[in-house]
Amino acid sequence: MRQQLSRSAGRRVGRTFGVAGIGLALILGAPVAAASKTPAHPLGSAAVDTARMLSADQEPGTWMASGRTYSEQRFSPLTGINKANVSKLGLAWFGDIDTERGQESTPVVVDGVLYITTAWSMVKAYDAASGKKLWDYDPKIDRALGQVACCDVVNRGIAAWQGKIFLGALDGRLIALNGKTGKVEWSVQTTDPKQPYTITQVPRIVKGMVVIGNAGAEYTCRGYVSAYDANSGKMKWRFYTVPAAPGDPTNTPLLEKAAKSWHGEFWKYGGGATAWDTILYDPKTDLVYFGTGNGLSWSQDIRSPGGGDNLFVSSVIAVHAATGKYAWHFQEVPGDEWDYDVTNPLMTADLKIKGQVRHVLMQAPKTGFFYVWDAKTGKLISADKFAPANWASKIDLKTGRPVENPDARYNETKAAIVQPAPLGAHNWHPMAYSPKTGLVYIPVTESSTGFQSAVAKDFQVKDRVYNTGTVSFSDKITSLYGQPGALPRGNIKSYLEAYDPVAQKEVWRAPDKDYGAHGAMVTAGDLVFSGDWSGRFSAYDARTGAKLWSASVQADVVAAPSTYTIAGVQYVALLVGARGLPPGQPRTSESSANNSRLVVFKLGGTAELPSKPMAGGTVAVRRLDPPLLTGTNEQVIDGQGAYGRYCAGCHGQGGVADKSIPDLRYSSALKSLSEWNAIVVEGSRKDKGMVSFKSVLADGQAEAIFHFIISQANKDKASEQAARR
Ligand code: CA
Repeated sequence: MRQQLSRSAGRRVGRTFGVAGIGLALILGAPVAAASKTPAHPLGSAAVDTARMLSADQEPGTWMASGRTYSEQRFSPLTGINKANVSKLGLAWFGDIDTERGQESTPVVVDGVLYITTAWSMVKAYDAASGKKLWDYDPKIDRALGQVACCDVVNRGIAAWQGKIFLGALDGRLIALNGKTGKVEWSVQTTDPKQPYTITQVPRIVKGMVVIGNAGAEYTCRGYVSAYDANSGKMKWRFYTVPAAPGDPTNTPLLEKAAKSWHGEFWKYGGGATAWDTILYDPKTDLVYFGTGNGLSWSQDIRSPGGGDNLFVSSVIAVHAATGKYAWHFQEVPGDEWDYDVTNPLMTADLKIKGQVRHVLMQAPKTGFFYVWDAKTGKLISADKFAPANWASKIDLKTGRPVENPDARYNETKAAIVQPAPLGAHNWHPMAYSPKTGLVYIPVTESSTGFQSAVAKDFQVKDRVYNTGTVSFSDKITSLYGQPGALPRGNIKSYLEAYDPVAQKEVWRAPDKDYGAHGAMVTAGDLVFSGDWSGRFSAYDARTGAKLWSASVQADVVAAPSTYTIAGVQYVALLVGARGLPPGQPRTSESSANNSRLVVFKLGGTAELPSKPMAGGTVAVRRLDPPLLTGTNEQVIDGQGAYGRYCAGCHGQGGVADKSIPDLRYSSALKSLSEWNAIVVEGSRKDKGMVSFKSVLADGQAEAIFHFIISQANKDKASEQAARR
């Protein structure tokens, strides 16, 4: 089986390149004949190296890195599935996933094996043709760590290199697995386990090193990115993104200079600026790029009283690959206080701009502005809005600074309504770029939120909870939202947008029926593939946005697909499952309440997902059914404040879930205060990631939150009923 697979995988390359592939090969300057010389590797070899990555376009049937190539364009040269035949796409095989939190990873497929990660940092390897599970790896993450995983206990995928599979685990370990067996080859702790760091990002391989960052800038963390030798796990370099306290040995001369852009005792909060998602290596410039997140606290009054740019928060940083030494930076949001992380996917491309081919770096960050830089120098080429944003009117192309709306800044006494809200116009969800159409495909979400600073003199940093120093519900915020012409509060709408990065303008959009972002992939067959939060997986015409094919996947989709060939057959693979279930979708999986699955499609595929609802698992249309409010007005107000600080990060603003974490308005525990306290105070659901909050909640606050949620659920139930009338 192994030999047969590897032989056919090798042969496949030449054939699938096909007729349309010739044009592409010319574009890429690679002779078509070179494709057939690609060496075959036995099943599970994971034999990725620099030479193979550099010539990835000569084996288009392989998806050997999360973003496929170093450019991370998520563009596949395959044309086997195209506009003419995509309507015949059917399920080839599927695999049930045994965890039900958010599933965010892109399948990596190399040497006949498909690798994914799931929630709780588990890795699974499948025979990419048959779907047979080859191995599982579970790093056995302490479920209590869910408390400091700001945005769910997710993982966005693996890296393959010279026989090993690399995983950044939620608890800060970087783990090298044997590609054939899944056995641990080495493991290093990249973070201080006493600090609330987590890892959810894909490790990237750069010159035989594994580069990894971390998350935690809502708690008390200081960001950094490190490189480890891929063979030994020995650390080669580390780059801190913000200064520490004066005199700290990790303060380089660069960071001492950066410290001049801060005020007060900012190090007490950790500084933030964690590089939690994108890391990109560009062999043309030999630079490694990463984006940093918000400063800590979010509120600048608390973080850096008196303001300042607070370098290097909300910045793209380029370092020299071999040494990790600073090359350049571009701060997108000086003195950010809106959680405008610019950790969103970066990609390189060659764009023809004003008659000249430029090698550029591109990003569509949370802020709503699309950036194009010269990849070597970081010089800004263009920046414009790809989505509505009220916090700044434009980017000054001379200085690179945003022209801020003065109403967007807030403090203790002044509230602001800001668009986009902290989840951003575009978050981590992979975007894709087609060199054929010249368009970038961006999953866009429109939203707004209110901000006001917590009272600085009363604000205390607490361990392992949000220390953002903000409130999102206050009388002033409510009054702003009540003014005529105010933006709608919360989530507004979402869509897949095709964007021309040269002209800086939208070309088409495909609106979502249900709100939510979902990763994208584009192919040389001129198809854009993306899922949605209505339980569908669809293919769109890359030039017009027309929906050409769609299938039910019975689950919310947030991850991006990938595509590959085995024995001449092109497959499209996607990991599904997040939050709860799409509207009206029953549970059909025995192993996960949100129908988490790996689904793999091919032309003429005839496999079928289970259609029978699980016994007792029907969730037809979820209706709010809370008990009557028995708490006092004071309890509801106190509960609202405590919820905002300790619960909203995971469970969603105003009690409305926006991630894979339960929506408390539907909780059966609302029927019993003692059951509620058992969970919130005593930690009875610790094994599911809901730890005890006894140490941070003041007396009576657990009960106050209980009444606040009941109050919210009753208000929302009344609006639902009014809407149905
Ligand atoms: Ca953040």
